[in-house]
Amino acid sequence: MSEGVQTSPAFSQRVFSGIQPSGGLTLGNYLGALKRFADSQNSGVQSIFCMVDLHAITVWQDPDKLRRATRELCAGFIASGIDPEKSILFNQSQVPEHAQMAWIFNCVARMGWMKRMTQFKDKAGKNAENASLGLFAYPALMAADILTYHTTHVPVGEDQKQHLELARDIATKFNHDYGVEFFPLTEPVIEGAATRVMSLRDGSKKMSKSDPSDMSRINMTDDADTIAGKIRKARTDPEPLPSDVKGLEDRPEARNLVNIYAALNDQSVEAVLRDVGGKQFSEFKPMLSELAVEKLAPISGEMARLMEQPDEIDAILRRGSEQARAIATPIVEKTYDIVGMVR
Ligand code: ATP
Ligand code: MG
Repeated sequence: MSEGVQTSPAFSQRVFSGIQPSGGLTLGNYLGALKRFADSQNSGVQSIFCMVDLHAITVWQDPDKLRRATRELCAGFIASGIDPEKSILFNQSQVPEHAQMAWIFNCVARMGWMKRMTQFKDKAGKNAENASLGLFAYPALMAADILTYHTTHVPVGEDQKQHLELARDIATKFNHDYGVEFFPLTEPVIEGAATRVMSLRDGSKKMSKSDPSDMSRINMTDDADTIAGKIRKARTDPEPLPSDVKGLEDRPEARNLVNIYAALNDQSVEAVLRDVGGKQFSEFKPMLSELAVEKLAPISGEMARLMEQPDEIDAILRRGSEQARAIATPIVEKTYDIVGMVR
């Protein structure tokens, strides 16, 4: 957990985070999110993890693929070390409180705030007029996901920092407008060597499960040959690797591969460069492939095993949803009461 947190002491520590079933999990999701979720759970803080299916449909999803992706994501959580006996694991749409809270927050958030969100701009692209209203409102639903549990800490990748700031703005405005100290100012927890894993094809773009190019990412279910092939073809520059971090400035592709290596191996970037400084990519890339396969193969094997028992996955999600609702319902009730809804 990060040092110097500034949440109100009135709120006991609680971790929440979510992942969209908008495709298969990537190495970016693993290093930026899943691997760190397991650390949070194992530190003993109450941890709640959500498959955010309502977020996924802000862009078109084929219904059968969405169902499969939600179950596979649940398998990914468990295979990455999230234990449904220790953490609450569920899918968003089974807890209607998220959507109920999101409506209140749609009425708290300002249009001007939402228009500044870079994720909307990136995802809507040039055709923003044709994007769904849900994609625009996405950060208000995300604030609802977090604040419906009075969450104090959210482990996420770098790309979600702006949305976390918006959740704090929403909490602050709600508390101020209604003269209460009801919602905490949630802290983002963005830590480690790989908080922003980049595309293997373009060092200026984030690796994403929804990227149309499969070569841009390593999927957690890729086999060893596929991983090796993608890393071999990953874009790099002609220089050998530097011996210190400063030498990675202005070399986004080199920096990305070194960051991935460091995060996978639980090492600092400095320590990795002490070992590999001076090596050519022709030598470093096979080392990285071997490490990625060593770390990912047991997880993808476990995911495949779990996917053979979809009924068990559904039962875990159902039970998790009940546990989540036990926390969420009173908080939503109280929120509606504060706002002045007759109950
Ligand atoms: P999509 O392309 O559909 O948005 P995604 O790969 O960005 O999918 P999300 O479900 O949006 O995945 O994000 C889940 C979690 O993974 C978030 O905490 C996010 O910050 C983290 N994450 C996503 N991509 C990366 C990345 N490239 N590097 C580090 N963390 C990432
Ligand atoms: Mg995303």
